[in-house]
Amino acid sequence: MALTSATNLGPATALTCRECGTTRELGPHYACEECFGPLEISYDFGDVTRESIEAGPRNIWRYKGLLPVPSHVEETPNTEPGLTRLVRADHLAETLGLSKLWVKDDSGNPTHSFKDRVVAVALAAARELGFKVLACPSTGNLANAVAAAAARAGIRSAVFVPSDLESQKIITTAVYGGTFVTVDGNYDDVNRLASEIAGEQDDWAFVNVNVRPYYAEGSKTLGYEIAEQLGWRLPDQIVVPVASGSQLTKIDKAFQEFIKLGLVEDKPYKVFGAQAAGCDPVANAFKQGWEVFRPVKPDTIAKSLAIGNPADGTYVLDIARRTGGAVEDVTDEQVVEGIRLLAATEGIFGETAGGVTVGVLKKLTESGALDPSAETVIINSGDGLKTLDAVAPVVAPTANIAPSLDAFRAAGIA
Ligand SMILES: *Cc1c(COP(=O)(O)O)cnc(C)c1O
Repeated sequence: MALTSATNLGPATALTCRECGTTRELGPHYACEECFGPLEISYDFGDVTRESIEAGPRNIWRYKGLLPVPSHVEETPNTEPGLTRLVRADHLAETLGLSKLWVKDDSGNPTHSFKDRVVAVALAAARELGFKVLACPSTGNLANAVAAAAARAGIRSAVFVPSDLESQKIITTAVYGGTFVTVDGNYDDVNRLASEIAGEQDDWAFVNVNVRPYYAEGSKTLGYEIAEQLGWRLPDQIVVPVASGSQLTKIDKAFQEFIKLGLVEDKPYKVFGAQAAGCDPVANAFKQGWEVFRPVKPDTIAKSLAIGNPADGTYVLDIARRTGGAVEDVTDEQVVEGIRLLAATEGIFGETAGGVTVGVLKKLTESGALDPSAETVIINSGDGLKTLDAVAPVVAPTANIAPSLDAFRAAGIA
């Protein structure tokens, strides 16, 4: 593969190490040559205004001036995710004793999870960088998003998942065609394998491995949208699910960029992370007061969040502490309860990650860590139809009756 430094990645100017600050040219790099720290995109933002954003397409490309993508990105087939609804959740708020609550419902994306955002940006950058195959290790939602985006772009996909994944997520990946491999191991095993394959197949863009600096920037669009949809202002507190921690980290980055660009007023906000108790390395480190987390072996129904060694875990700790937030975890029972609560109060059927977030919202409200009078946003990052097994044992029809009025009356449900 003849990779050269990128010629057109919009406002992106360089790659900078998040640990030691060493800078290098844009290209297919993800680790610092000096200290092996993760690389992050640096920018020179042009003239981005509320008006220029509002005049853009009704998807994430309205923020292309803030992303590492070519300036004509919207002209190339991609999945065009984003601008999902921000739902005012008065019933859920009332149930929990909160005054103002919104759900950012990212199940509305093309493959029904927030992963379409990161994949769309990774695909756009990967094409510019000369990669030929779109690949990933995944806990499920990323597999859907990569397989779909590659199909739409007309390129090959290569997706690797743990073999014990929910059957819904296996089917919803396989349907797009492409190379799809189940691996006998957990996500952290699959992730390590992907890094090894990436070392051999140098024209394969593993979106969350060797293209990770570009991929990660896609999560910023969640933060931008929340601020824009609130009427160009930041919430007081936000609860975000944590797998690798990238989403949470980049929502904070998005808020900081909007403040610096003068697109929203500078004000304090608190960032809260949500994990499942069966995979809670970051929540545990937060509660113990540790600077670094200890990796765990995941065991939870929240498989989309089951990353035992989260790449951005330490940054999540930093952000929660810097903003006055917290990282909390909930049991699998509370995850199921959270899914049902969101569905019953707001008509939104989230996946297990949504259940984790709602469960943590409830727990933090009850403990007093969340301010009940402050404006609160939570993320529903995926669709309950992909994790049916989580709720199947605990939900059922009210009754089964013969098709007669007598049977209806006898059932006592009027
Ligand atoms: C991947 C994922 C997340 C969080 O991802 P990060 O790795 O922390 O960025 C949250 N919710 C769902 C449904 C996901 O698939």
